[in-house]
Amino acid sequence: MSVIPTINGKKFKQYSKLQAQKMSQKWDVIIIGSGMAGMSAASALSKFGKKVLLLEQHYIPGGFTHMYGRKGYAWDAGTHAIGEMKTQTPVKKMLDWLSAKKIDWISLGKEYDRFYFGNGKVMNFPDTPKEMIGLLKREFPNEVDVIDRYITLCKNAVTSSRLLFGKNMLPSSFQSPVSKISKLFTDKYFLKTTKEVLNKLGMSNELQRVVTAQWGYYGNPPFESSFGLHALVVWHFIHGASYPKGGSKVFAEGILQEVANHHGEILCRARVKRVLVDNDRATGVELEDGYKFFAKYVISAAAIKTTVKNLLPEKFALSDWGRSILEVKNSPSYISLNMGFEEDISKLGADLKNHWIYATDDLDAKLWKIENKDEVPPIIYISFPSVKDPGHMLKDKLKHTAECITFVPWETFAKWKDSDYQDRDQEYEDLKEEMSKRLIACLQKHFPAMMAKLSYYELSTPLTTKHFAESRNGAIYGLDCTPERFACQELGPNTPIKNFYLTGVDTLAPGIAGAMSSGLVTAAKIDLRALPHLL
Ligand SMILES: Cc1cc2nc3c(=O)[nH]c(=O)nc-3n(C[C@H](O)[C@H](O)[C@H](O)COP(=O)(O)OP(=O)(O)OC[C@H]3O[C@@H](n4cnc5c(N)ncnc54)[C@H](O)[C@@H]3O)c2cc1C
Repeated sequence: MSVIPTINGKKFKQYSKLQAQKMSQKWDVIIIGSGMAGMSAASALSKFGKKVLLLEQHYIPGGFTHMYGRKGYAWDAGTHAIGEMKTQTPVKKMLDWLSAKKIDWISLGKEYDRFYFGNGKVMNFPDTPKEMIGLLKREFPNEVDVIDRYITLCKNAVTSSRLLFGKNMLPSSFQSPVSKISKLFTDKYFLKTTKEVLNKLGMSNELQRVVTAQWGYYGNPPFESSFGLHALVVWHFIHGASYPKGGSKVFAEGILQEVANHHGEILCRARVKRVLVDNDRATGVELEDGYKFFAKYVISAAAIKTTVKNLLPEKFALSDWGRSILEVKNSPSYISLNMGFEEDISKLGADLKNHWIYATDDLDAKLWKIENKDEVPPIIYISFPSVKDPGHMLKDKLKHTAECITFVPWETFAKWKDSDYQDRDQEYEDLKEEMSKRLIACLQKHFPAMMAKLSYYELSTPLTTKHFAESRNGAIYGLDCTPERFACQELGPNTPIKNFYLTGVDTLAPGIAGAMSSGLVTAAKIDLRALPHLL
């Protein structure tokens, strides 16, 4: 399988001055960044007749939905499991509209997540609310009442999120009064940590460990995470999980085909240096080589802190608006061990499920501190894209793949932050090798037969993520999903600059569904016809 997405059988255009000179310089909307959010905004706005130019710094579009390959193996950068795709949910309808139904789904099965807890217990999460609640009640018969109250709280938090995010769709002048009202309903969920809420319910630590076992999907353990966000993710997966047929590059192929069909243009290797602002109004963008494109509207779909700090005139970063955005912490940095096998790993322990391995029952453990020689990662995620979708393999060769992720401190890698991709020193390479070997040793305990057949591995670090996705500190999900994040009123599509909007996970919520919804919210700022597609 090729990991490079195409449209109409062709690769995406790469920026060159010559190429740009052949194109119009004046657009209705310029979008910076082709992640799920940028692509979604581009598709919606081009369908409404806007002339859209989508600029991406990478040589392939898709942001964290891009794929990469080595020696015939294929991996996904940031797509392993997506909820709400099994039936016609609002999220599924949104994606079908944006991609003209070009994306098909593979269910991860009746049990989609497996957890290996620190105390030796293994649990699989089933794909219906009834079975999930039944499982919790069977495992914790003394906490049946607590479980019922917890489920009610999750449902209420999810309902209240419509108010929290819905206010973003209003014109700026209405936002402040509506925000005051919405806070009455949302603060009790979104401005409390998960741990606070669960402790108040009187939930035992053992049950807390199980109901928060999916925290890796949003990057913050219960003592840090916002309960409202925790509830959103629990509900996102309450009917199980799916994987896009053909791997995550199908997002770019499906959605950007719609942009192209509606006369939009996509240019890769087009790194925006700055947004052009005249009299506090955006007029276009300047690329790194000085080339300028002009537009009525500019949207930044790049990470929000990168936008504020690097792409706007300094006075906006120094303003109250900019400062409060820059104060929100990044979600954790991560490493990913990408593995290849030339054996059928589905016969050696790999399956469609996502596997989560906890080394300890410490509810707060998050980061793997490699300098402690005996320390193992407190949480490890592993999944098998080629088992989920055999289309990952070349026609005549078994080329199975596994992806293994864990969270690490940015500080471990910070000293190389100014070095270039593929030009880092031996110490960095040695660190990568040590981390790989130690991760492999952990995996051997749970997947001995499969790991015995390992034929290729490569570690991506926070510096790799920073290089390819412009993610600050190689953060996995953008901004931290903490109460502080949801207290920051400035996180949304509106900015102090006229005709300049923000989109992306940082403006709404993490994940593919969060990014896609944020793209539509921002599109609705420019054309209200996007609104019905959000509901
Ligand atoms: C390892 C990992 C696993 C994940 N697993 C899942 C999962 O299983 N399910 C799920 O729902 N979510 C998952 N996610 C999260 C999800 O992939 C992301 O939250 C989401 O795709 C982010 O979308 P975005 O559009 O907001 O940002 P991004 O995808 O980061 O897009 C931003 C784009 O802007 C571009 N850009 C930045 N600066 C510039 C510039 N100056 N000029 C031009 N372009 C620029 C970047 O190159 C990038 O393409 C995962 C993420 C990671 C990292």
